[in-house]
Amino acid sequence: MSAAASIPEDSARAIARGVRDGSRSAEATARSYFDRIEAFDDRVQAFLTLDREGALATAREIDRRREAGEVLGPLAGVPIAVKDNLCTKGLRTTCASKMLDAFVPPYDATVVRRLRDADAVLLGKTNLDEFAMGSSTENSAYNPTRNPWALDRVPGGSSGGSAAAVAAGFAPLSLGSDTGGSIRQPASLCGVVGLKPTYGRVSRYGLVAFASSLDQVGPITNDVADAELVFSILAGPDPNDDTTAHSTLDTTKRSPSNRSDLSGLRIGIPSEYFPDTLAAEVRGPVQAAIDRLRGAGADLREVTLPHTSAAIATYYVLANSEASSNLARFDAVRYGRRVDDPADSLAMMAKSRSAGLGPEVKRRIMLGTFALSAGYYDAYYGKALAVRDLLRADFANAFADVDALVAPTSPLVAFPLGSKVADPVSMYLCDILTASANLAGIPALSVPCRDAKPLPVGLQILGPHFGESTLFRIGAAHEELSPEPLPRSPVATTAVPGGGS
Ligand code: GLN
Repeated sequence: MSAAASIPEDSARAIARGVRDGSRSAEATARSYFDRIEAFDDRVQAFLTLDREGALATAREIDRRREAGEVLGPLAGVPIAVKDNLCTKGLRTTCASKMLDAFVPPYDATVVRRLRDADAVLLGKTNLDEFAMGSSTENSAYNPTRNPWALDRVPGGSSGGSAAAVAAGFAPLSLGSDTGGSIRQPASLCGVVGLKPTYGRVSRYGLVAFASSLDQVGPITNDVADAELVFSILAGPDPNDDTTAHSTLDTTKRSPSNRSDLSGLRIGIPSEYFPDTLAAEVRGPVQAAIDRLRGAGADLREVTLPHTSAAIATYYVLANSEASSNLARFDAVRYGRRVDDPADSLAMMAKSRSAGLGPEVKRRIMLGTFALSAGYYDAYYGKALAVRDLLRADFANAFADVDALVAPTSPLVAFPLGSKVADPVSMYLCDILTASANLAGIPALSVPCRDAKPLPVGLQILGPHFGESTLFRIGAAHEELSPEPLPRSPVATTAVPGGGS
């Protein structure tokens, strides 16, 4: 099979190529995705806001420019879905919070602007846990999102709407944000590809801040090549975000003929990421994937990340501390819906925050405020910062011996809706295999194990800072070596009633 023929027809690459060479229209492409969304999103509930008029107008303009002979961008006519904590000019951005139900940003996040400049077509904004706090998308103030593989199960979170949208065939690619696992864990539970880039690789300008030292934006796609393409468009310095790094992308081209040859590559298996409690339906497919990497010539070595068991506690102290400070801006004066109190402005703020923020967000603000308060700062926040250094050192030691690490992304497959909402700690433990990468600032990619049945399982590939190209190399090899074709959810493979595609 030639390399071109193996590109899935609905990949971002195939759509952009077709729109650029005139074999497909951007407008018809956008319409066919809206047909599918209209037919099935009442069941999945991936979107909070759709912009049909805006998307069709953009698509028509792209078609017009092509007919006029203009050279189009690398995502020409590719429909995209964007997590609703990324600002979109003129389009409501709620963070799935009642606090921001009427917020219409006056500007685009840098990542949104870069995709628009690449001639992508924004279909709408996707659901999330309120302010990206959660692992199941059940903390949305509007509605939960359902997993397209099993509608009684969660899609993961907090970028559950973005992962479900790709898995349901509502968009070939979406954007998520990942503070402790929120791109990779829903990608794993929905059977799609998700990348958390190196901290500083992608601009956070226009991403509503949750925990600024941990947040990164990244792509969710059907395959690794699309993730690589979108990453190459998103990455790079931004004068509006001083934490973006100036380091350049490694654009080494792999020859398609040796995509699955991993000889010479040293891959570490961190023993702490395979605890006895790991679900059997996760362990099996991940182990099979690792065995195939060995068969492709990779030099596999057991490594140890000894402070892993402290990652969740460290993450929740630091993330909540940063959140308590970041969310102070939602005071109904600077931002947020106001509940008036004629008596005084403090009462107005208290009433507005009580009414506008949901229970999980309030819990986090209280925990974070406590960790930062006088008398407790050293015991909690200061100690968590010190443990963060130990976690960073664990990875630095591992990467002295290996080029990348592989592990499961999530300790569990998609769980039933409602099964964890009453127990926040069991929800927090969903991040046990993902939060360390955020604390250390390293990149990590989740790729579906195509032979996992009946529910998806993600293989997580972690690399050193700015090592995304190694992740893509291993991810592409994993796909190439997989015994099964690209997995498609039951929603994505159901025909649209009335004949749409
Ligand atoms: N599930 C984690 C949390 O609730 C991570 C969220 C995220 O990455 N945005 O904080």
